[in-house]
Amino acid sequence: LYNEVQDLKGNIRVFCRIRPAGSTGDRTASCTELGVDGEVALYNPKSQQRKSFKYDKVFGPGSTQEEVYEDTKALIRSVLDGYNVCIFAYGQTGSGKTHTMAGTNIEAYSGRGINYRALDDLFALNAKRKGEAEYEIRVQLLEIYNEQLRDLLDETKSQKRLDIRNTERSGNNVPDAIQRPVSCTEDVLAVMEVGASNRSVAATSMNERSSRSHSVLTIIVDGINHVTGVRTHGCLHLIDLAGSERVGKSEATGDRLEEAKHINKSLSALGDVMSALASKAQHVPFRNSKLTQLLQDSLCGQAKAMMFIHVAPEGSSHSESISTLGFGSRVSEI
Ligand code: ADP
Ligand code: MG
Repeated sequence: LYNEVQDLKGNIRVFCRIRPAGSTGDRTASCTELGVDGEVALYNPKSQQRKSFKYDKVFGPGSTQEEVYEDTKALIRSVLDGYNVCIFAYGQTGSGKTHTMAGTNIEAYSGRGINYRALDDLFALNAKRKGEAEYEIRVQLLEIYNEQLRDLLDETKSQKRLDIRNTERSGNNVPDAIQRPVSCTEDVLAVMEVGASNRSVAATSMNERSSRSHSVLTIIVDGINHVTGVRTHGCLHLIDLAGSERVGKSEATGDRLEEAKHINKSLSALGDVMSALASKAQHVPFRNSKLTQLLQDSLCGQAKAMMFIHVAPEGSSHSESISTLGFGSRVSEI
């Protein structure tokens, strides 16, 4: 095994990313203050009070995609050695989750997010270890909407319902989900395009569905070491979570209320699981949502998780930001 894995401290790490003020057209003044060593403070313009939080690291508004990816590199490499890894993007709609995971203006490399960088690293390592070891890399892309799973790589666009099953060989998984083999960036871009078009079909009828569903990109790596004969199986899950914003009781009716209930339930189920794992609790409540069931085997034992909590810096988002930062503290091992 490669030494990097042993250097990773703790099983869960929480990183905070603050996006630049004004990215979404909101002109209210920024209320975030960057500290040192993973500290961030939120200033409440009304009460004039300051509340501080501490995480493994904080990425300020000026941080690049490359800098944000840097710390996940070692984790991604460990997937080749048979480890399971989950990387989550949490935060209210507009806080920068998709920017971190997929990226913005991905035609330019500088715009690309963790998803592309992770796969490129896996390809590069595969090439580097050639002769000694060989890896097969496949991707799966699911959406969880109202506690139902949908396959975003299904080009027939059948609305087939998918179920999570427990199979002896690979634990909890979705046996009917499509898994596409990929071996270069072009393959990945093509796969993502299918996923995006599948998502937007639903979006026109359901208006911005992407912010109200979880998207789970899973990279499956099967390897064989030609020298030792050892086989490995590792999974990397890259999760762009549904927006964490509270939907006011008065604004939400019908479908919106239904969505809000499901999101609320699954995000709190995720918080419960992560905080149980962080505190090394005896019982971890995986069964309370589809998302935590799906990820169960990738969150147990030797698995590693990384949570990027996203903060919109504008004063108008103050109360959502407080709740996001609180979620981050709850699931952190610090
Ligand atoms: P979310 O997925 O959480 O709803 P987005 O990733 O779509 O949020 O971000 C909202 C907007 O802000 C997008 O236009 C995005 O390009 C921009 N944005 C988000 N984070 C950053 C960042 N770190 N630097 C520059 N622009 C950003
Ligand atoms: Mg998004």
